[in-house]
Amino acid sequence: MSFESLGLLPELLHAIADQGYTEPSPIQLKAIPPVLARQDIMGCAQTGTGKTAGFALPILQMLAPHQNTSPSPARHSIRALILTPTRELAAQVEESVRNYGKYLALRSTVVYGGVDINPQIKALRAGVEVLVATPGRLLDHVQQKTVNLTRVEILVLDEADRMLDMGFMPDIKRIIALLPTERQNLLFSATFSDEIKRLANQILRSPVSVEVARRNAPADLVTHQMYEVDADRKGALLTHLIKSREMKQALVFVRTKRDANRLMRELLRDGVAATAIHSDRTQGERTQALEDFKQGTVNVLVATDIAARGLDIELLPFVINYELPYAAEDYIHRIGRTGRAGSTGEAISLVCADEHRMLDDIERELKRKLERLPLPELASSRKSSSHGESRHAAPRHATGHKSSSAHKPASSHEPSSHSKPHPRPAAAPLPGGFDFSKPYEFKPTDTPAEAPAASHSARYAKRGRPTAALLGGAAKKP
Ligand code: AMP
Repeated sequence: MSFESLGLLPELLHAIADQGYTEPSPIQLKAIPPVLARQDIMGCAQTGTGKTAGFALPILQMLAPHQNTSPSPARHSIRALILTPTRELAAQVEESVRNYGKYLALRSTVVYGGVDINPQIKALRAGVEVLVATPGRLLDHVQQKTVNLTRVEILVLDEADRMLDMGFMPDIKRIIALLPTERQNLLFSATFSDEIKRLANQILRSPVSVEVARRNAPADLVTHQMYEVDADRKGALLTHLIKSREMKQALVFVRTKRDANRLMRELLRDGVAATAIHSDRTQGERTQALEDFKQGTVNVLVATDIAARGLDIELLPFVINYELPYAAEDYIHRIGRTGRAGSTGEAISLVCADEHRMLDDIERELKRKLERLPLPELASSRKSSSHGESRHAAPRHATGHKSSSAHKPASSHEPSSHSKPHPRPAAAPLPGGFDFSKPYEFKPTDTPAEAPAASHSARYAKRGRPTAALLGGAAKKP
């Protein structure tokens, strides 16, 4: 089935062709017709399935009759509101909306916290038809009366489960109370806990259920391996793996922001081009870190679970669990970053003695054992300081992307592809019957390592962030 057969406008088909998409993904095939028919949607799909286009394309099509090039803000009311849990996802979604709508005279912008509010106010004052927002910052705008939501016709809750996990439920309720009651609602979630079902019952009217298989992390494309290693040898092992395997792109997970900073410093000190992404970095630093990683100017991105959520990083060959997650389902989220879109991926975990309970949980969730690899011979020059303060001063270039060492490839060897070929067993079908081709369901026990506890305004006030430019543009050219 083609995009043409979905009845999309020529302007959208043109933009889709520019993106290089040749055929709709399953979620797009299932979601676009009912959304165009103005039905509410309960979508079980996660990032990586193409769900953004699944809602953005029909929304743009439905808003097309409102397109105009008038400079008057009154001619550009917010008609579609898309809420996302994280700033990165908000920026990505708005970028997609902009790309898909580039041949339509519709405007979009994105608002999220951690950056200067004034450019956002300017963009909102100019008028936009599509607003992508994180809940906290949107309420800041509501409070300052810089946003008018009275003309919203379509509400999208993207990654609704993450929004609830992150404590956004009260914010979402406040926002919904500000919207016209007559509207179309689209809710997307990777999991369907009782809380999500309750939310869906409250806001959706006779929804069409749309469920798709996971596109990412199919079992036969990801290998799950682990090393048993003392906590204080993890740093040395990680550096060894990165260098000996000539890893050009590895996403390394730790549990806390502090560990992320520390590990980034250690890697830089060891001559590995690394950067970090976590919620205590400024938005500018996070954007830069992600961009450097995507562009390949750094080889290693150290991340916490929350910061990595919703990021669309394609074709990632390696995910390394420097520390196992407390919640087994986070392991699945982490490895969802690799083995995407038909490429192969490796999930490597460094497991120390006090992580065995977590390992058991993960293996139970996966219904398979991680493959135990023999510990390689490690240079004895340094022990990891991952469980104590670094004994070395942080290098001047601790932010990673500015340093000359950060621009060096992880290894001086000839870079062939993303990694040196490594003998590894063909991934066996899962004996326990865990089916990666099905959307997975998690228990609502996910405890984000850095979930905000305070209200959104308290959060932002506490951080006192430096400012950065608003991502995404307001005006569209016809
Ligand atoms: P999403 O799940 O919306 O974050 O999309 C994941 C990735 O899939 C993005 O990089 C999209 O650009 C890409 N994508 C979306 N739809 C298609 C399609 N029909 N064909 C190929 N790639 C797509």
